[in-house]
Amino acid sequence: MDLFEYQARDLFAKHDVPVLAGEVIDTPEAARAATERLGGKSVVKAQVKVGGRGKAGGVKLAATADEAVARATDILGMDIKGHTVHKVMIAETAPEILEEYYVSFLLDRANRTFLSIASVEGGMEIEEVAATRPEAVAKIAIDAIDGVDEAKAREIVEAAKFPAEVADKVVNVLITLWDTFIKSDALLVEVNPLAKVASGDVIALDGKVSLDDNAEFRHDWDELHDKAAANPLEAAAKEKNLNYVKLDGEVGIIGNGAGLVMSTLDVVAYAGENHGNVKPANFLDIGGGASAQVMANGLEIILGDPDVKSVFVNVFGGITACDEVANGIVQALKLLEDRGEEVTKPLVVRLDGNNAELGRQILTDANHPLVQRVDTMDGAADKAAELAHAAK
Ligand code: GDP
Ligand code: MN
Repeated sequence: MDLFEYQARDLFAKHDVPVLAGEVIDTPEAARAATERLGGKSVVKAQVKVGGRGKAGGVKLAATADEAVARATDILGMDIKGHTVHKVMIAETAPEILEEYYVSFLLDRANRTFLSIASVEGGMEIEEVAATRPEAVAKIAIDAIDGVDEAKAREIVEAAKFPAEVADKVVNVLITLWDTFIKSDALLVEVNPLAKVASGDVIALDGKVSLDDNAEFRHDWDELHDKAAANPLEAAAKEKNLNYVKLDGEVGIIGNGAGLVMSTLDVVAYAGENHGNVKPANFLDIGGGASAQVMANGLEIILGDPDVKSVFVNVFGGITACDEVANGIVQALKLLEDRGEEVTKPLVVRLDGNNAELGRQILTDANHPLVQRVDTMDGAADKAAELAHAAK
């Protein structure tokens, strides 16, 4: 998960990386009070998860609270490289910036270790510096066990040729930044620019942090998630622990096992070519051993997708045999009706594998008006595509 700059700033502050004061807002008028709290002037910074905001006009100085409101008005709603600005950070203005550096820690997968990248030519994109002046970019491997102590930090400072007068301060930044990196289970922490200001201080003026999603269970990252950017169906599916990805077609898909579901997407897309080019509306793997409850949750998400015109339930019975799945489908439809969800879209069900005959009989006996049984995968895909096309 990538963080916004203001979230990175907060994380840095928590680990004593020197930063300036800042707060995030989402209306222009809020820039006034925020700027007044900072003593009457501020920097207005677009919060989007993409670099080069400065060049794109997303970072502006405001000399008064009125000006901050005007700059926030300009920046909110702006499009920066395809990202709409919904929030801006009102930050304390840096004292005169004398130099801009670059420092980062990241996971170096190729070398199975951590890496520090540092340069005294910061401010611009580090990829650009690396391409045009590779000698200005120092790369130092960090041992995962030893980490970054003062000696290691000095090694980085020397390799990148930081000026002597800022060496101690940069060493401190590196140690606190490493602390942020490790304690947050980050894959990347980057400061660009790390600025030397008139007072002689060295301050992180911009931060980029990417956290390792695999480590989420040991943290409380709830509020870091960007709920505005998430697809509402995907968010609802995530809450129910479903393995769901929204796609842009019309045929809802449910299957058990990721491989089966992926091949179902292919088969439906292929069948759709004969039926008005309808396509899969989603990926949803309810896994092996799915209960009626899980089937109901999956159906609820898919039937709640306004793009879905028909649903293809494709199950290969294994440890959870087809009769259990068939009962699950029947119960799931009943559960949904009990929850007050009106099921109005046709379902095509293909059951094969363990106890297929039993399962098919259960569906036939249940005789649900919206459920059709088709016993081959190709046939079922064709039927689902046809129904979706007819309903379009
Ligand atoms: P980016 O373009 O997305 O990387 O955004 P940055 O936060 O790095 O801002 C771009 C540039 O704006 C920086 O390199 C600085 O030169 C400048 N900048 C950022 N914050 C301040 C500030 O507080 N005062 C001044 N004068 N310039 C700033
Ligand atoms: Mn930057």
